[in-house]
Amino acid sequence: MDKPRIFMSSPTMHGEEMQFIQEAFDENWISPLGPNVENFEKELAEYAGCGSALALSSGTAALHLAVKLLGIKKDDIVICSSFTFAATCNPVAYEGGRLVFVDSEEDTWNMSPQALRKALEKYPQARAVIYVHLYGTPAKTDEILTICREYDVPVIEDAAESLGAKYKGKATGNFGLYSAYSFNGNKIITTSGGGALLSGNKEKIDYARYLSTQAREPKLYYEHKAIGYNYRMSNITAGIGRGQLLHLDEHIEAKKNIYDTYREAFKDLPVHMNPYEEGIAEPNFWLSCITIDENCRVRPDAIIEALTEENIESRPLWNPMHRQPVFAGCDFVKAVPEGETSVSDRIFESGMCLPSDVKNTPEDMEKIIRIIRKMF
Ligand SMILES: *Cc1c(COP(=O)(O)O)cnc(C)c1O
Repeated sequence: MDKPRIFMSSPTMHGEEMQFIQEAFDENWISPLGPNVENFEKELAEYAGCGSALALSSGTAALHLAVKLLGIKKDDIVICSSFTFAATCNPVAYEGGRLVFVDSEEDTWNMSPQALRKALEKYPQARAVIYVHLYGTPAKTDEILTICREYDVPVIEDAAESLGAKYKGKATGNFGLYSAYSFNGNKIITTSGGGALLSGNKEKIDYARYLSTQAREPKLYYEHKAIGYNYRMSNITAGIGRGQLLHLDEHIEAKKNIYDTYREAFKDLPVHMNPYEEGIAEPNFWLSCITIDENCRVRPDAIIEALTEENIESRPLWNPMHRQPVFAGCDFVKAVPEGETSVSDRIFESGMCLPSDVKNTPEDMEKIIRIIRKMF
């Protein structure tokens, strides 16, 4: 018999989602937009404690609109975290911008403030900095924002993975001039697919709303003064989001439990959990990850293989952007001296993501831990 699948991070639905969808059906308000979208935006902005939210078809769309709002155009330099998913930086490429990638630091795996400073010294003309809270762990935000202020460069915050995570008591999604969330199927809550753009500047969010609905002028006939996009979230999708948002804190608690369970189970092994700044940051623990000491004979690939044999999903860490063939021409600023292996390369080569599904049972956790421990 097939072994039941254990997932890394799959959608966890609760029931309220269907009620909001049912309301939309009852009113035949399937699309476009509608009350679920407006309410989802309001509820999201309230949850995050930020100014305004714009619900969109994806996190990538949110990042693209942020890049548009900053007026990034051909050959403009944009500095970006290297250790991330390609969606963080692709929108810069859509606009013909020139990406410069920045290495990670060891304490949170996110953008190294030292390397960022080096990058800005080298490229003082940079038009924007995009930084990420990877795996739901807040980056060294104060340090990063201070350096960006010094160089007078605007910040885009990619909070796609970190909805609900806090830095110094404030939710991620509040720290960029523009910030983005994702509600893709694997994220901490999902709308099946979707995202949001956030900002304290309501006028800019209104302009992004205009761009996201084909840049139609408010006239009876169709008039366009700008190139627009079809990036809005539908009323059905937003209904799923409203139901999910009610359970976000519960998801965070379950994910934190998973993280703590792994940490405890591996504490005598040459294995380290993805780190965070305790007392400063409260991650949402979206994915539990490990790195394995370099001199250990057990490698991440072997663990992934052993878990796969038991129908348990796990993955390598994000392959940093400076290693991607498509970005081969881009500069990469390391946090270590020339000639040494970069921090993000080292983390990537020694690490992996563990199953971190909200629905993982204690028995699932025991099974995963047993398989991994047996290898050491
Ligand atoms: C998921 C993700 C995105 C993109 O979000 P989508 O909703 O999938 O478009 C962007 N950045 C990071 C770091 C992500 O993990």
